[in-house]
Amino acid sequence: MAGYPDCRDLTAYNQAILRVDEVFGRRSHRLQKVRELARKIRTGIDAISPFIQRSAGVICPLCENVCCISKHGYFNYEDIIYLSALELKPPALEFGRNDNDPCRFLTETGCSMERSVRPSGCNWYFCDPLLDLMETDPAYRQFDDALQDVAHLWMEMVEEFGGVPAIRDT
Ligand code: SF4
Ligand code: SF4
Repeated sequence: MAGYPDCRDLTAYNQAILRVDEVFGRRSHRLQKVRELARKIRTGIDAISPFIQRSAGVICPLCENVCCISKHGYFNYEDIIYLSALELKPPALEFGRNDNDPCRFLTETGCSMERSVRPSGCNWYFCDPLLDLMETDPAYRQFDDALQDVAHLWMEMVEEFGGVPAIRDT
């Protein structure tokens, strides 16, 4: 979002966490709607997760260019707002990896993160083969509608948070 800092290095990431923390700490009474929206987003992602997993479980084991790479594993400013609204702490991240190195959350048994709290650079990425397969599923239209709903809720959450005055503005 325009005006929000890039969080692609340790200093910027920690500053973003502090800034969001400060707003949640001192403007708590203004953030009820942001919290409600974040909870709806989490519920929405949980609801579509089995559909995504159904196709991913078929196609990802065959993949030769796995997308669980470092550049998809950063939390941006909006993710920090979302996690904070869920009263979750953004994780400590190791920076300095190459973009194509394995994602920091990848383990031998797969992703260590619940889908609903993965970085948005991961959660909003669908490769073409995965999309192609999902589109063959009779439940695709329902999934797509639900995904759009989550996207709208996300935009609303970010906009609502942006409408709360930052501490330095008062
Ligand atoms: S989502 Fe696509 S790019 Fe990522 S591992 Fe699965 S098949 Fe590969
Ligand atoms: S957060 Fe998990 S699913 Fe997303 S890129 Fe990293 S390891 Fe893969």
